[in-house]
Amino acid sequence: MGKTYETVIGLEVHVELATKTKIFCSCSTEFGGAPNTHTCPVCTGMPGALPVLNKQVVEYAMAVGLATNCDITRNGKFDRKNYFYPDNPQNYQISQLYKPICTNGYVEIKGDDGEKKQIRIHEIHMEEDAGKLIHDDFYDCSLVDLNRSGVPLIEIVSEPDMRSADEVVAYLEKLRLIIQYLGASDCKLNEGSMRADVNLSVREAGTEEFGTRTEMKNLNSFKAIARAIENERERQIDLIESGEKVIQETRRWDDVKEYSYAMRSKEDAQDYRYFPDPDLVPVIISEEWMEEVKSRQPEFRDEKMSRYMEEFELPEYDADIITLYKPLADLFEETVALGNRPKEVSNWILGETMRLCKETGIDPDKIRFSADNLSKLIHLVEENVINRGSAKEVFEEMFQTNMDPEVYVEEHGMKQDNDEDALREVVKKVIEENPKAVEDVRSGKGKAIGALVGQTMKATQGKANPAVVNKLLKELL
Ligand code: ADP
Ligand code: MG
Ligand code: ZN
Repeated sequence: MGKTYETVIGLEVHVELATKTKIFCSCSTEFGGAPNTHTCPVCTGMPGALPVLNKQVVEYAMAVGLATNCDITRNGKFDRKNYFYPDNPQNYQISQLYKPICTNGYVEIKGDDGEKKQIRIHEIHMEEDAGKLIHDDFYDCSLVDLNRSGVPLIEIVSEPDMRSADEVVAYLEKLRLIIQYLGASDCKLNEGSMRADVNLSVREAGTEEFGTRTEMKNLNSFKAIARAIENERERQIDLIESGEKVIQETRRWDDVKEYSYAMRSKEDAQDYRYFPDPDLVPVIISEEWMEEVKSRQPEFRDEKMSRYMEEFELPEYDADIITLYKPLADLFEETVALGNRPKEVSNWILGETMRLCKETGIDPDKIRFSADNLSKLIHLVEENVINRGSAKEVFEEMFQTNMDPEVYVEEHGMKQDNDEDALREVVKKVIEENPKAVEDVRSGKGKAIGALVGQTMKATQGKANPAVVNKLLKELL
């Protein structure tokens, strides 16, 4: 029998903050402008240009720290991390080494054993992002785009407290939800606004001492992270079992080929010659400022979920999904506040909204229709103005364009036909034209009535009130 091994994982998570401007200048952080158009002397590293700290960056970092139970450093500062790379025009990155803004925190996740588990956060620090190198095969050259240079980041460094891919994903989900609820970032792994580096080692089960770790980069989905962890765990165990040593190195994960390869070894680790940045004043956080940020903290996901189950009597399943994205939770609450039944609102969100999000590839946090319009649609159904079939059709249009469902129903003549006398004539005609189905119903095949309802709906372009049609069919047969 082989030995059993335990996986030990610590994460370094970079999050791009959702500020309008960069961390040390007033250039736009907007993604996707023409190369080098969101730049100035500061973020292109011109000699003599002076950085000025963006207050919003500090507030977001503080808010994330408070939400993750960190101590907030009241007298912090920035340091220079010196290295040369063409996407880094200053030849140093402004970061925090000696006095990061947040230390000693934790978040709670569901651990592998199903119990609550704390994942400790060693620190959170603020820093600037680098630019981007674009390798052009056609002209055989490399080009640099500095639009991203100076975009604010926080780096959240965990303790090596995770033991499996599931725990890693649970931890990342937790961070993502906290940060999205704060509006501090949209945290998209696939777009790079959240980037996780996975530090992983293995040790024989039951031993205390940590093994040598590797760091894996380029993981841009939860699935990729899970696969990379499995793969790296196996790789390290194979090395150990065959008497070799794990080398401390940085590896790059290739999710298409499903393997990782060494990028650089830590043995020739660079000395970054960190020193305090002389261009920036210390970051002093007053009691008042901290209290102000504290008082603005939103209700987070766990509290919201419990409240939905209590106050609105939603099933756990519903509350779980709705609170997974803050914009969905906002939509839900606003629609309920307009006087709609919570469960009915929830059904529209869980059913049609989620279905269309999947079909159209629109992220649930980017939905476009308003609470006002959803509320109107629900009222149209409840007041029997349109039937559910038509409502789904209206909803599809509203999902795309956020048009007013009342106006739409009016303009498209979709109002439900509740007029018994008029419908009786249609039903009579359907009965005449479908002798086979009629016979089936009469001979006790209950299901056959569905076909007749369907024919009647078709004859009325979907506008008949199905309840009235059913009633008439029973009466006439
Ligand atoms: P460095 O200074 O090389 O960046 P740190 O001590 O800051 O290293 O740790 C970086 C990350 O690696 C942290 O998230 C930490 O939890 C994790 N880590 C440290 N040692 C191990 C280990 N033996 N196995 C797995 N993860 C580790
Ligand atoms: Mg580190
Ligand atoms: Zn700039």
